[in-house]
Amino acid sequence: MNFIEARCLMCGKVYQIAQDRQEFRKLDKQNSTTFICHLCSNKVRYEAEERDKPKKPLPPSS
Ligand SMILES: [Zn+2]
Repeated sequence: MNFIEARCLMCGKVYQIAQDRQEFRKLDKQNSTTFICHLCSNKVRYEAEERDKPKKPLPPSS
Protein backbone atom coordinates (compact mmCIF):
# COMPACT_ATOMS: atom_id res chain seq x y z
CA MET A 1 0.00 0.00 0.00
CA ASN A 2 1.12 3.53 -0.75
CA PHE A 3 1.75 5.94 2.06
CA ILE A 4 3.11 9.42 2.69
CA GLU A 5 5.46 10.14 5.56
CA ALA A 6 4.17 13.33 7.12
CA ARG A 7 5.23 15.28 10.18
CA CYS A 8 2.75 16.83 12.55
CA LEU A 9 3.30 20.58 12.77
CA MET A 10 2.42 20.64 16.45
CA CYS A 11 3.96 17.59 18.14
CA GLY A 12 6.63 16.88 15.51
CA LYS A 13 5.77 13.22 15.35
CA VAL A 14 6.20 11.54 11.98
CA TYR A 15 3.22 9.54 10.78
CA GLN A 16 2.89 7.23 7.85
CA ILE A 17 -0.36 8.20 6.24
CA ALA A 18 -1.80 5.31 4.29
CA GLN A 19 -3.43 5.71 0.92
CA ASP A 20 -6.92 5.03 2.23
CA ARG A 21 -6.80 7.88 4.74
CA GLN A 22 -8.49 11.20 4.20
CA GLU A 23 -5.24 12.99 5.05
CA PHE A 24 -3.41 11.19 2.28
CA ARG A 25 -5.52 12.81 -0.42
CA LYS A 26 -5.05 16.21 1.16
CA LEU A 27 -1.27 15.83 1.44
CA ASP A 28 -1.00 14.42 -2.06
CA LYS A 29 -3.05 17.24 -3.53
CA GLN A 30 -1.04 19.92 -1.72
CA ASN A 31 2.24 18.08 -2.31
CA SER A 32 2.87 18.54 1.39
CA THR A 33 4.57 16.48 4.08
CA THR A 34 3.27 18.36 7.09
CA PHE A 35 -0.11 18.15 8.72
CA ILE A 36 -1.78 18.32 12.11
CA CYS A 37 -2.44 14.90 13.57
CA HIS A 38 -5.80 14.02 15.06
CA LEU A 39 -4.40 14.06 18.61
CA CYS A 40 -3.22 17.64 18.21
CA SER A 41 -6.36 18.78 16.43
CA ASN A 42 -8.41 17.30 19.27
CA LYS A 43 -6.20 19.11 21.76
CA VAL A 44 -6.57 22.42 19.93
CA ARG A 45 -10.32 22.02 19.80
CA TYR A 46 -10.47 21.13 23.49
CA GLU A 47 -8.30 24.10 24.47
CA ALA A 48 -10.40 26.44 22.33
CA GLU A 49 -13.52 25.22 24.09
CA GLU A 50 -11.87 25.66 27.47
CA ARG A 51 -10.81 29.19 26.54
CA ASP A 52 -14.36 30.08 25.58
CA LYS A 53 -15.63 29.20 29.02
CA PRO A 54 -16.15 32.21 31.30
CA LYS A 55 -14.18 30.86 34.24
CA LYS A 56 -11.00 28.83 34.38
CA PRO A 57 -10.58 26.62 37.43
CA LEU A 58 -6.83 26.27 36.77
CA PRO A 59 -4.26 28.53 35.09
CA PRO A 60 -2.75 27.25 31.82
CA SER A 61 0.13 24.89 32.55
CA SER A 62 2.28 26.31 29.74
ZN1 LIG B 1 0.47 16.02 16.56
